Amino acid sequence: MTQLVDPFHRQINYLRLSVTDRCDFRCVYCMSENMTFLPKKDLLTLEELDRLCSAFINQGIEKLRITGGEPLVRKGIMTFFDGMKRHLDSGALKELTLTTNGSQMEKYAKDLAAAGVKRVNISIDTLDETKFAEITRWGRLPQVLRGIDAAQAAGLRVKLNVVALKGFNEDELFPIVQWCHERDMDVTFIEVMPMGDIGNENRLTQYWALSDMRKTLAEEYTLTDLSESSGGPARYMRLEETGQKVGFITPLTHNFCESCNRVRITCTGEIYTCLGQEGKSDLRAPLRASESDEHLINAIHAAIGQKPKGHDFDYSRQELGGQMTRHMSHTGG
Ligand code: SAM
Ligand code: SF4
Repeated sequence: MTQLVDPFHRQINYLRLSVTDRCDFRCVYCMSENMTFLPKKDLLTLEELDRLCSAFINQGIEKLRITGGEPLVRKGIMTFFDGMKRHLDSGALKELTLTTNGSQMEKYAKDLAAAGVKRVNISIDTLDETKFAEITRWGRLPQVLRGIDAAQAAGLRVKLNVVALKGFNEDELFPIVQWCHERDMDVTFIEVMPMGDIGNENRLTQYWALSDMRKTLAEEYTLTDLSESSGGPARYMRLEETGQKVGFITPLTHNFCESCNRVRITCTGEIYTCLGQEGKSDLRAPLRASESDEHLINAIHAAIGQKPKGHDFDYSRQELGGQMTRHMSHTGG
């Protein structure tokens, strides 16, 4: 069986693919209000996305997460999901999933379930309509809540992604956890990361360390650390009183790089083997160079052969150590 292994002997079996840099929201920690998006001609076509993912799956990728930008605003995206179903059916791909803001979920939930998607991550940072409009600038909470209803009605397991933002959703920690319990959803909190220029917003004032959040949670709940790992940045704990699973993505308070199993691809076919480093290689040229996958597969192995050991994010000196110039929506969160 073919495997992708990096220089630090980490097996790479998880691909996160951004299918568009565009979005129908403008979350304040993610984008500036006036974003310049890539010209459509620079994007990989749906056929190219299929070829690229199929090559990765043939080389040992078992889990594929579609992200963006907002993946569900990419025109014709269901054609891509429908195409990936053949890899689920063959058993080569173990999981096909997506991270979405939920705005289009009402429209696509059933189709996604029919394409073999079983779990989705939906991002909501507040349950307050006014605050939701403020943080997403263009988003509307009721639309996303209808999306969650539709996803659950279609049988999709929903996990909520919540970015922890100081002074913004600190007071909603218990209501959000409680709400997820009532709706039988897992929840993962994410520390805000220094990705891209976000206009006038200040990241240091946004940053709420999850080590602090944990202490607050422990005032109400008995927390048990779970050893299970997705091989990625999330660490999980169980709230004994409710049995809920809560995830923490803590790139800043805990370094998770030693167990990293993933690579990311942008919608233009650049591969980033580390979210927190600028290093990248181009897969679009080898993809387009010929109809055979030989060049592409060589380029994939060459890129993984250069995967760095880890990121350098650091807020400890009250400055943005390791700040990335690209936005999260470029590489896909
Ligand atoms: N649009 C989709 C969504 O919002 O779920 C998918 C793409 S979005 C970039 C993926 C995840 O990254 C979201 O949960 C979002 O909240 C998170 N995110 C965006 N910018 C971030 C940042 N600077 N730090 C931490 N998380 C961020
Ligand atoms: Fe769009 Fe997701 Fe970024 Fe918000 S976090 S602006 S929904 S890509």
